Amino acid sequence: MSLELRRQLIATAVAMNEQGINRGTSGNLSARVADGMLITPSGQPYAALRAEDLVFVDEQGRPQGSRAPSSEWRFHLDIYRQRDDAQAVLHAHPVHCAALACMGRPLPAFHYMVAVAGGKDIRCAPYATFGSQQLSDHVIAALEGRKACLMANHGLVCLESDLTRALELALEVENLAHTYCQCLAVGEPRILDDEEMARVVEKFRDYGALAAARADND
Ligand code: 13P
Ligand code: ZN
Repeated sequence: MSLELRRQLIATAVAMNEQGINRGTSGNLSARVADGMLITPSGQPYAALRAEDLVFVDEQGRPQGSRAPSSEWRFHLDIYRQRDDAQAVLHAHPVHCAALACMGRPLPAFHYMVAVAGGKDIRCAPYATFGSQQLSDHVIAALEGRKACLMANHGLVCLESDLTRALELALEVENLAHTYCQCLAVGEPRILDDEEMARVVEKFRDYGALAAARADND
């Protein structure tokens, strides 16, 4: 299985901590591969991971090798099963996302960038024990039509078309959560209406696409 992908998985997991959206062995990261996924092992410091420490889990949820896969392998696998748009799944405990999640608060349309996750809000999945099938079921429901959700009393989950984008999305959602916490310290921010958020979601479909196409042609 691609050594390059394994290296990228480890580099992205390390970057989650270096960029301040996760601490220690919290969180986990995976990438879709043929017939299953590659996922970080459970409870291991990311900086010490070697390529062979990543765990392959097949489509039936059977891990290969001697390492235990992340305790959250269920929602990672369920996301790949249900979402064709997912090539990478990132779970972290960013402070501001977790703070809102501990209050059971979703991110409403207080800022137009909330649409970066695909809709007018970023939901908060109800609490369930870490690693449980119930948590996975809640996460799948909260991700409907979205690429990110909070998990009550826990953290954040993002899915994306690659690992780099998954990290970028997680950083952006944490930035939004931080801003929202600042707003709540002052009062209740004004919420953009559904029509405006639908317009922004539409604009995001080709946001950056022109610049990317030009760069490809250079
Ligand atoms: P793992 O170390 O098993 O991936 O668990 C970390 C975590 O964040 C559980 O929700
Ligand atoms: Zn967690």
